Amino acid sequence: MTILRVALDVPLPRLFDYACDGASALDVGRRVIVPFGARAVVGVVVETADTTAVPAGKLRDAGAVLRDAPPLAPDWLALARFAADYYHRPLGEVIHAALPPRLRRPRPLQLPPAAFALTAAGRAAMATLPARSRKRRALLERLAAGPVPAGALDGGAALRALLKAGWAAPCALAEAAPALLPEEPLTAAQEAAVGAITGALDRYAAFLLLGVTGSGKTEVYLHGIAAALARGRQALVLVPEINLTPQLAALFARRFPGARVATLTSAAAENERAAGWLAAQSGAAHIVLGTRLAVFAPFARLGLVVVDEEHDASFKQQEGVRYSARDLAVYRAHAAAVPVVLGSATPSLESYAHARAGRYRQLDLPERARAGSRLPEVRLVDTRTEAPAEGVSSALAAAIAACLARGEQALVFLNRRGYAPVLVCGACGWTAGCARCAAHLVLHTADRRLRCHHCGDAAPVPRHCPTCGNVDLVPFGRGTQRLAEALEARFPQARLLRIDSDSTRAKGRWEAMQRAIAAGEADILLGTQILAKGHDFPRVTLVGVIGADAALVAADYRAPERLFAQLYQVAGRAGRADLPGEVLVQTRYPQHPLYQALARHDFAGFAAAQLAERRAAGFPPAVHEAVLRAEADEMRDALAYLARAAAQAPPGHDGVTVYDPVPMTLAKLAGKARAQVLVQSPARPALHAFLRAWVEALRALKTGPVRWHLDVDPIEF
Ligand code: ADP
Ligand code: ZN
Ligand code: ZN
Repeated sequence: MTILRVALDVPLPRLFDYACDGASALDVGRRVIVPFGARAVVGVVVETADTTAVPAGKLRDAGAVLRDAPPLAPDWLALARFAADYYHRPLGEVIHAALPPRLRRPRPLQLPPAAFALTAAGRAAMATLPARSRKRRALLERLAAGPVPAGALDGGAALRALLKAGWAAPCALAEAAPALLPEEPLTAAQEAAVGAITGALDRYAAFLLLGVTGSGKTEVYLHGIAAALARGRQALVLVPEINLTPQLAALFARRFPGARVATLTSAAAENERAAGWLAAQSGAAHIVLGTRLAVFAPFARLGLVVVDEEHDASFKQQEGVRYSARDLAVYRAHAAAVPVVLGSATPSLESYAHARAGRYRQLDLPERARAGSRLPEVRLVDTRTEAPAEGVSSALAAAIAACLARGEQALVFLNRRGYAPVLVCGACGWTAGCARCAAHLVLHTADRRLRCHHCGDAAPVPRHCPTCGNVDLVPFGRGTQRLAEALEARFPQARLLRIDSDSTRAKGRWEAMQRAIAAGEADILLGTQILAKGHDFPRVTLVGVIGADAALVAADYRAPERLFAQLYQVAGRAGRADLPGEVLVQTRYPQHPLYQALARHDFAGFAAAQLAERRAAGFPPAVHEAVLRAEADEMRDALAYLARAAAQAPPGHDGVTVYDPVPMTLAKLAGKARAQVLVQSPARPALHAFLRAWVEALRALKTGPVRWHLDVDPIEF
């Protein structure tokens, strides 16, 4: 009898022992169905043993070991272990967060095999098969030439007969590596970047690909991937936006004819995602493309890791196991001894600091790739002297008019959806607030509702003020719906497309809008950050930025970094093709260093100033952080719990600072009060030693009505 040591999806930092006949060390990495309480659940075998500390009477038998898929390899289990240690979560929770949902179900997989191959018995049968078995003979003859993809075989009944007779068997498909179809010759800068990456293919190296918008970073990834594929390796490509995966998958398919691209996102159907996962694991997938969850894909022969738009906050998982897919991607590359390419025009200050310190190698693409395409000119419009009417300054209005007269497209960026962010009573000052969140309700005029952008709650617009009865309720501030009205009034001939998460919610809407934009069926594109990310709009020559100042005064030390990245990206939408571009930013603070750096397209200058500020103020990357968060119905319970938790902080950890409990910036969300304790240390090992001891103490501490979690390298406060 073998003892299986199983990782289960429970919040306890230990493995669970089960007895199993017929299992062996070869089952490490396999899923197993085990009884847990009264339920049957799926666990993953992490170790096997001959003995157990569980008394014989208490030791339960495992159910079935699932041998429907190959076991997760040691390198994958090492990745899960690393994430469990680093984020201070039980291994079972990490493993289950990483597995695709289908593999977490206590049912064997019944995935169609990738391909079929002839067996020895089948080859022998070919000589003896009677002539009238035409269909079976034809199938055998096809299979005799080599494995055939399942999709390419018809004749279901004949195939079933062959499988039943043992003449054919399922097999994995390992196709020859596809080559890259070349397009334009590389620019000198691209050439140098590709050379650096391909020169490091058989060892760990981290590259920061710092390329201005339109500099052709994608082409560099493609050439790097081609070199990895040529060595029989696979590539992992992470992108921030689920919306960006279809177009990138299509690009890979077009440029690598015959390549198998597995797409891993939360939008994929369960079976499809499981199939993609298994294709990565077997080595059948050449390229694995996905959002942050794809960082956990198993690989047979990982050869290169790419993280596109590496600065993007969506690489950080914000619930459950709060991992950073970018950071785990670097870990993976290191563990697999392969290069990782982190690409961005505005890298995270963490990655940029690594590059400055020489830990990452910086590859610069300082110019746009297309001949004749230049970075747009950025003008700062001082709204103190040029007071905007309905949000639009006369300078911006004139620029839009000129752009429309040239028959080009104008993009107006306002990162706030809805009609107005606040509804105010003109008599008593009452404002409409969410009952469940510490936030204002946003007025939406399309359906006359007040909506909470944090919890999704909605309410009808009141007819009069609930405190004083005044009927004169005033929308304050401006969202995209209101700005759309103003622009339509100002430019009645122009076709305006409002693009925000409200107008693109229906399935297929955003794709339809992108087609309309590409076909020139829209003149003014008005929208939120959806417009900033990765899309190529060749007819856009003017970008107007409205309402950006709000983010300048945010309390969060990461706000300037986010704002700069966002404005830089959106500015980069201007003049992508051969038409020159222009950007107008409306601001009350045109002298602000952030806007000044933006106007110079000066990421390096901005980053140097930010890094100096962060160092002086003691913020990352100069120090390392974690937060302990607590949620409760009442703020005082959350704060009281955190005070007790802070009192449990283990002594003897020099250089680790534990701050006082404070409410989070959004102090209440969906009915829960939220508070946190910040922990900082200049040294990562010291911080983690502290956290390990602290979490152990916290597991023993009574929580009462409070739920808590730890967030390592937090980006939300
Ligand atoms: P980035 O991701 O750096 O913003 P892209 O990869 O989207 O830039 O490339 C911008 C545009 O430049 C694309 O249309 C691409 O086809 C084009 N491009 C890339 N490399 C070259 C090149 N070497 N010569 C000409 N055009 C190029
Ligand atoms: Zn009132
Ligand atoms: Zn709310």
